[in-house]
Amino acid sequence: MEVVDYDPELPAIKFSDESWEVADWVVACDGVKSKAVRIVSGGETPPKATGMSAFSMVIPDEKMASVKEMFKENNLIREKFNKDNGTVWFIRGGDRRLVVWWTCRFGKIQAFDMLMPDNEKYASNEEWTARCDKVCSRVPPDTLHKGKLCMLGDALHPTPPFRAQGGSQSIEDAGALERIATNIVDKSDLPRRLEMLDRLRVSRYPCAQMISSVRQDDLNLDERYIEVPSQCRKWF
Ligand SMILES: Cc1cc2nc3c(=O)[nH]c(=O)nc-3n(C[C@H](O)[C@H](O)[C@H](O)COP(=O)(O)OP(=O)(O)OC[C@H]3O[C@@H](n4cnc5c(N)ncnc54)[C@H](O)[C@@H]3O)c2cc1C
Repeated sequence: MEVVDYDPELPAIKFSDESWEVADWVVACDGVKSKAVRIVSGGETPPKATGMSAFSMVIPDEKMASVKEMFKENNLIREKFNKDNGTVWFIRGGDRRLVVWWTCRFGKIQAFDMLMPDNEKYASNEEWTARCDKVCSRVPPDTLHKGKLCMLGDALHPTPPFRAQGGSQSIEDAGALERIATNIVDKSDLPRRLEMLDRLRVSRYPCAQMISSVRQDDLNLDERYIEVPSQCRKWF
């Protein structure tokens, strides 16, 4: 059921049927369109479009049999289907166009991301059944909690996918959360634990987020890389 509101102090979550659920601690991982971030950062912080769109798709390996057959004489493509080979392909086109092709689940699934500048024609073209989303980001908040409500994942740090860091940072968030939640014997210890979580994470995810935005500006990569350390200093 959809979560429509949070009370960070109780803490509690409100569902779309108007019911409230009270807990000892609430962890919001409600993605890039998070409702929790407004409460934690104390104001409206809508995600901003980066100017790039992405198609993502996964295809079962057996459905690509005709592609394998068509390119069986091509060493490079044949090798891409080799189940013992974990390569990721980055295929760059002009004007920030990028296709990433990798293999998951030990060769059972072929996965593709196609990144390109926003173009409404792609999004509305009925020949495309793959999902096209605008890639969004948001200035990272200075804290990841308010009261007994904390956030992790894209809710906290929606990260442009140009360095494959969004999911990785979310896994790091979860690892840090596990550490600080271990051996809590008294609820009164929670505020101190959440401060520890802030200290572990707030200097970390903004750097991954900022460095991931650099590739959006292909033409000025060197200048953008130089800017990143001073942009990140704010969170140290
Ligand atoms: C094109 C593309 C390629 C990427 N490639 C990589 C990569 O190679 N490596 C990598 O590490 N990361 C990658 N990422 C980033 C990665 O996908 C995200 O960082 C990751 O999915 C974030 O996980 P999450 O659980 O925080 O958010 P989400 O995956 O967005 O999950 C949020 C969940 O919350 C639910 N939800 C939202 N609002 C509510 C609500 N109000 N009530 C109830 N439920 C709600 C949603 O339905 C969803 O299930 C990529 C992203 C994109 C767009």
